[in-house]
Amino acid sequence: MDHILEVSGLEKRYGDFALRDISFYLPEGCITGFVGVNGAGKTTTLRSVLGLTNKVSGNISFFGMDMDGNENKIKDRIGIVLDGGCFYDELTLSEMKNVIAPAYGNWCEGDFMGYMEQFSLDPKQKIGTLSKGMRMKYALALALSHKAELLIMDEPTSGLDPLVRGQLLSILKDYMGRGGRGVFFSTHITSDLEKIADMLIMIDNGEIVFQEEKDRLLDSYQIIKGGTEGLNADTRKYFLNIEESAFGFTGITKQGSDVRKVMRDVLMERPTIEDVMLANVEGRKRDVV
Ligand code: ATP
Repeated sequence: MDHILEVSGLEKRYGDFALRDISFYLPEGCITGFVGVNGAGKTTTLRSVLGLTNKVSGNISFFGMDMDGNENKIKDRIGIVLDGGCFYDELTLSEMKNVIAPAYGNWCEGDFMGYMEQFSLDPKQKIGTLSKGMRMKYALALALSHKAELLIMDEPTSGLDPLVRGQLLSILKDYMGRGGRGVFFSTHITSDLEKIADMLIMIDNGEIVFQEEKDRLLDSYQIIKGGTEGLNADTRKYFLNIEESAFGFTGITKQGSDVRKVMRDVLMERPTIEDVMLANVEGRKRDVV
């Protein structure tokens, strides 16, 4: 399978925070979710990959081309949505588009007008009067109107209500269906990824924790529920994270079949992405202590 983006050994420092040896790839034909808690390094990674902030070291290649020396050619082929878009509030949607469109060799006015209509956006409305959801849709309309082969977005669903989030997710599916080659977006709203992601990459404290196909990842962890009488120094070792209450315990493990052998009367459930993400954050904190 071809990779539309390959990142290897990316390093970047901001005071006490550092991205350390960030390596991952985006396979073609996939929606890839980039997850991590607040401050994990998602935005810094995306900005470094896109050349919007200086990296210290590392190699970045899009579509098989090195980012160093090919930045303009590459950016022509990517739709980018960061911070809900950096727009001038006093301009209308149409005027702002006229500022942005000439930057792209493949700008397609017909696509733009089609998205404006699909998203119920009025070209004569001023940017400053858009709601958060409308602003996100406008940013998407711009990002999707130059035949982009890859869409990269930072927290596109944050602050949006469930209805607009749902619309945005179906736009992304539709984009892939029209022959988009990949979508890469960061979020801490993991329920969105349950719906549409094929691949997941997790970052924590500036390090990549895993890159895995979503279904394979969720199949490799199990939530275990049972009475606390089954917990002892030996059985606890099987768990990345355990929560105890007066009614029993809930733990997450990657060794479900071993747990079954040593703990009777426990229930096993499939975890959510959030369960896996938080278990890894807790597990890593414990390893550091
Ligand atoms: P969130 O989910 O809260 O948006 P994030 O995973 O995107 O978080 P980043 O925004 O990449 O995390 O921040 C990672 C770390 O880098 C934080 O400690 C942040 O304070 C620091 N940081 C980010 N940008 C800068 C900057 N321009 N100057 C200094 N420190 C920065």
